[in-house]
Amino acid sequence: MDLTENIKNNPTIFGKILRGEIPAETVYEDDMIYAFHDIEPRAKVHILVIPKKHIVCLRSTSPEDAEILGHLLVKVRDIAESVGLNETGFRIIANNGGDSGQEVPHLHFHILGGEKLAPLNG
Ligand code: 5GP
Repeated sequence: MDLTENIKNNPTIFGKILRGEIPAETVYEDDMIYAFHDIEPRAKVHILVIPKKHIVCLRSTSPEDAEILGHLLVKVRDIAESVGLNETGFRIIANNGGDSGQEVPHLHFHILGGEKLAPLNG
């Protein structure tokens, strides 16, 4: 999968990160996905996992993205394990669109953990 043009044309802040125009603290990278520490952590461990392909959010995925999405979720497990979260547990959040408060229009999965998280109904 050659994503050179796609990454070049990604206007979001995550596009800038993928192009190396702004720095990020890498956790994991391969040809399909990139994982890095969130700049404003909302938990002791707060990692963002993004597809390298510019997909705005889950609503805008198509069947051809199934391989990327499956790979990304399997890697979320591996990334969580690599930072010691599989034993203690973690939460994944993927905001989608306006009501969710999604700020960056490039699909991303937040991995949150490293401490007891507030319950969703709290
Ligand atoms: P959203 O609200 O769209 O679900 O989450 C966007 C996330 O991206 C936020 O948690 C925010 O802190 C993070 N973020 C925004 N800009 C940057 C940046 O330049 N670098 C990093 N590492 N994270 C960023």
